This record gives sequence, structure tokens and C-alpha cells, in this order.
Amino acid sequence: MIQNYQHIKSLLQESGLKTTPQRLAVLDYMIACKCHPNVDEVYQAVCAHVPDISKATVYKLLESFAQNGILSKMNSNDGKLKYDYIAEHHHHLYDVDNDEIKDYPNNELDEILKNYFKEKSIDGYVIEDIKLEIKVKKQINNK
Ligand SMILES: [Zn+2]
Repeated sequence: MIQNYQHIKSLLQESGLKTTPQRLAVLDYMIACKCHPNVDEVYQAVCAHVPDISKATVYKLLESFAQNGILSKMNSNDGKLKYDYIAEHHHHLYDVDNDEIKDYPNNELDEILKNYFKEKSIDGYVIEDIKLEIKVKKQINNK
């Protein structure tokens, strides 16, 4: 049932977290869904496989994965906190019409941004990471 068992096991080990059925289920969903779910959505997805899991536990697990750098957190326009599995560094395309968020990996853009801030630092701060949210609309083709 768990698709990425070995991968998840090593992720947990690297973070010093014990492998439990609950952690496996939550991380497996986060890796497989390729989406940006909120706590409710993760809970809905995993409670079918792990019947005794509570929403509070799902929240706690997501937070601990975020603290360990396995997931990142993002605010969305509906005010709900969303979680994102960090497979590779990526930016986000945010579709303003349907509230959809898509990953946008782009190494060339990463390089340009990195070089830009190498030359122009932000006073009093060290840059930890640069992530863009690019607002988009589907193009309507009238051809
Ligand atoms: Zn993402």
C-alpha cells in the first residue's frame, strides 16, 4: 500500500524520526499526491488507510516534517496553511482563476536569482531561500 517505503524510511532516519505506520501514511500521501494539501485534505486521504489516526496527529506529524525540512509550509489565499513535499527546489505557479498551485522548477531562474542577491544583499538579513509565486491565468486561444 505504501508506494515509497524505502525512500520514506530513509527520509525519516535522516531526520532521526522513528518509522511508524502513521508517519509512513502521511509522507506517502505527500510524496504521491504531487499537490499542496491542507491538514484537512491530508487527514481525509490517510484516515482511510490508518483508521485510528486523528486530525490532531496528522497536524503534529506535518509540523514535525516541516521542522525537519522534509515538507515546506505555505499560506494560501483561502487562509489555510498548505504543505508541500520538497523533492527539488521549485517555484509556484498560482492560477488565480481556480486557486490551483502548480510546481515550477526552473534551474536557470534559480541561478539568476541567486546571482542577483549575491550582488545586492538585503540589509540586515541573510537569505535562506528564494521562492517565487508567479500568478497566472490560463491563456484563452482565439485562433
Ligand atoms: Zn510546490
